[in-house]
Amino acid sequence: MRKIGISIIATAVFLFCSLTLATAAESMILEYDGGTHEYNGEVYSLVVNNQLLDPPLSPIIFNDRALVPVREIFEEVGATVNYINDTQTIEVYSDDSYVELKINDNIAYINGDKTNIPDNVVPKLISKVGGETKTMVPVRFISENIGLDVEFDSNGGAIIIDSEDYENITGSEEPVIDDEPVYEPPVVQSYLTGISYDVAGDNKVNVTVQASEEINSYSDFELKAPERIVVDLPALKLNGVPENVAINECGVSAVRLGDNDERARVVIDVTNLRNYSVTQTAPNELTIEVTTRKIPAATPAPIVTAKPTAKPSKPARPAGTKLIVLDAGHGGSDSGAVGYMGGNAVLEKTLTLQITNRVKTILENAGYTVSMTRTGDTLPSLVERPTQANEENAAVFVSIHINSAEATDANGTEVFYAESNNGDTYGTTSEKLAKNILNRMLYYMNSTNRGVKTAEHAVTKRCNMPAALAEVGFISNPEEVYNMTTDEYQQKAAQGIAEGIMITLRDIEIPN
Ligand SMILES: [Zn+2]
Repeated sequence: MRKIGISIIATAVFLFCSLTLATAAESMILEYDGGTHEYNGEVYSLVVNNQLLDPPLSPIIFNDRALVPVREIFEEVGATVNYINDTQTIEVYSDDSYVELKINDNIAYINGDKTNIPDNVVPKLISKVGGETKTMVPVRFISENIGLDVEFDSNGGAIIIDSEDYENITGSEEPVIDDEPVYEPPVVQSYLTGISYDVAGDNKVNVTVQASEEINSYSDFELKAPERIVVDLPALKLNGVPENVAINECGVSAVRLGDNDERARVVIDVTNLRNYSVTQTAPNELTIEVTTRKIPAATPAPIVTAKPTAKPSKPARPAGTKLIVLDAGHGGSDSGAVGYMGGNAVLEKTLTLQITNRVKTILENAGYTVSMTRTGDTLPSLVERPTQANEENAAVFVSIHINSAEATDANGTEVFYAESNNGDTYGTTSEKLAKNILNRMLYYMNSTNRGVKTAEHAVTKRCNMPAALAEVGFISNPEEVYNMTTDEYQQKAAQGIAEGIMITLRDIEIPN
């Protein structure tokens, strides 16, 4: 995490649309967008920290908005500037916010949140004929989004930006994350504190749940394939109750408990349900009476004709088990990105498998069921990976990768999902999965928050279920590549990913 600081001296902010009294126009031949263009716009000087800058290219005005050379301006005010060639992405970081833009793209990300650049004045690669190509970015848009005010001196024809050291304002060394807050339990007054059951007859099981306060409302409904009864308790959170209670009596296999910001949920997994009822047996207590159809006792293995539509490829799992498919990026002949540490190559495929194995262990120790697209140095195709998850009827799919950039100071953690796979038929979305994973990773890793992003990755877009792709850190960054080879940091990353999955799974109901 890079710590730099900016404070504001400039007091007045003038809109760039008020650029009317500007200095004399200059005629220049500029090269951009694959052609040459005559520029007759106004020319402004740039004053940063009371210094007149002499950038290789003056501010260029399009639609009354100024594009300025990104490095010369924003490094001068103490921000960090990265330009990633492969993706033509520009990143500008201040101490507590960042802006990500793309050449000729109207979409920008502010602290990971998607937004549009005003007036379509987008970043461009511009050069004077025969001159150096500069990465030009909208000055006001970036300045405001990293916490700088910009002053336009219309009489002097200057754009004025000022900064001073952040340390003068605050000594905080904690990373500040604005728009992607670390997961915090919401404030609730009541908790679900108890779960018990008793067998009330040959075909009857009573499940009782207790809350810390009076239960004012609840809703219940029945779902098929697999059969289950769901009881929702608004504004309750779990507290000290197990999330999974195995019953295996009279057709009732288990009770599962979960919660989210809005409610606690009780799910009873059952086969051959005849009926059920929910009764408020005390102000703070609900009893769910579950009656199943009698199966002849003399028939230990009831004859159940397999549905002709049943997919033989689905593995046998206890009813209600939510399978997690983990995908370690790359493998075999595809090493993924390559980093260097002390002259030795570090391969993305090695790190992804190590971290993925740790996620698997954490989840399995917590009682979850996990399947891997690869367990060794093999290369399943980008179609085979999501196909496996779909055929296994997984609840969630998470792919684990390591990032790389030309600029060795690029660093941080980001999680992607595919917009084409962001439906809510599973009770939650890929976006929520990505957010949960990123929040928990940042909590443990303390890495730079690069945000939740969208991309049509081959693996995530083909999944039926919520799917996310985590980029743990940069193999091209000397500090991060070292960290990612250590047990401690790998475990932090894995813990974050695993917890993000577990939080999301509470909301997931696999549809029929
Ligand atoms: Zn990768």
